Amino acid sequence: MPDIVIPRDLLPADGRFGCGPSKIRPAQLEALAGRGAAILGTSHRQAPVKNLVGSVRAGLAELFRVPEGYEIILGDGGSTAFWDAAAFGLIEKRAQNLVSGEFGGKFAAAAAAPWLEAPDVRKAEPGTRASAEAVEGVDVYAWPHNETSTGVASPVVRVAGDAGALTVIDGTSAAGGIDFDAAQADVYYFAPQKNLGSDGGLWFALVSPAAIERIERVAASGRYIPEFLSLKNALDNSRLNQTLNTPALATLLLLDDQVSWINGNGGLAWADARTHESSAALYDWAELSAVATPFVADPDDRSPVVVTVDFNENIDAAAIAKTLRANGIVDTEPYRKLGRNQLRIATFVSIDPADVRQLIRSIEYVIVNS
Ligand SMILES: *Cc1c(COP(=O)(O)O)cnc(C)c1O
Repeated sequence: MPDIVIPRDLLPADGRFGCGPSKIRPAQLEALAGRGAAILGTSHRQAPVKNLVGSVRAGLAELFRVPEGYEIILGDGGSTAFWDAAAFGLIEKRAQNLVSGEFGGKFAAAAAAPWLEAPDVRKAEPGTRASAEAVEGVDVYAWPHNETSTGVASPVVRVAGDAGALTVIDGTSAAGGIDFDAAQADVYYFAPQKNLGSDGGLWFALVSPAAIERIERVAASGRYIPEFLSLKNALDNSRLNQTLNTPALATLLLLDDQVSWINGNGGLAWADARTHESSAALYDWAELSAVATPFVADPDDRSPVVVTVDFNENIDAAAIAKTLRANGIVDTEPYRKLGRNQLRIATFVSIDPADVRQLIRSIEYVIVNS
């Protein structure tokens, strides 16, 4: 028995509030066992799996209302692999990387590859965001739509840089939870284990005609590009609803179900309204609380999908997270390297806003009874 037992009527129905891997809806698991039974354990070069990949690509294109000429491509290795693939096959000479936390920083590190010019890194204090600025010679402008380590969201708006410069957005934790205009990005890439409620291991990207042209041109330039990290290879295979090597079929099945669920409920606008409802409950509570404050000071920068809340020094946030965990409410710990007296709570689209309200009641109960 935990020291503090949260009464049942205060507990959320589902206690998963982690920022990735994150809550997978029970209906997705049922679909995995049902439809998946015919597909799992079968060849990824045959029609059933290719049709599944095709369905995921079409569903994502619908979700993001992709403009004419945009395509959905995919490959193995998650968003981390995409950073290296971009260093090999997307950045021509130099990137500008906005860094407002861990994930933006990781792409900046990948963009510092020896065959490229040193990236123009614009770093903001954690909890704030940097802005892109047109710089001559920069051919990729990159930032995360949602910085998962701090809970800072940045708008997806094209940079008016040199002709042909690409706007490349990391949508890993935002995709499927924050609405945006796809025409404002050339590449919007993500892995599906966050808002899209699937498992890790794959990356997806919606790519504009300009990005496709860039991928083709860099691939033809004679630069050494490992096969596994070749975006040209991913482009060619994706058009055939394939990947270079074996993909995780369960990840594709879970994702396909999630994308149909979002599209069937009203698409990205519906998802956006739902994550805003959940996150507003937490931000409003923290604003009014005597012991908590939203970590992100500027309300315009506050993420609707990853809520970070700081606590006064007389409250031990780590102890709250530990008690919540003992009561079945998991993964509310802050990003480990941020080192703050904080809770970080995902309000992804799969998470019921009613469960977020119950989470707040549970947190209050733990504070009052500690
Ligand atoms: C989780 C996350 C990543 C890393 O994704 P992997 O699939 O684990 O490589 C990258 N960017 C952002 C914004 C993330 O939240």
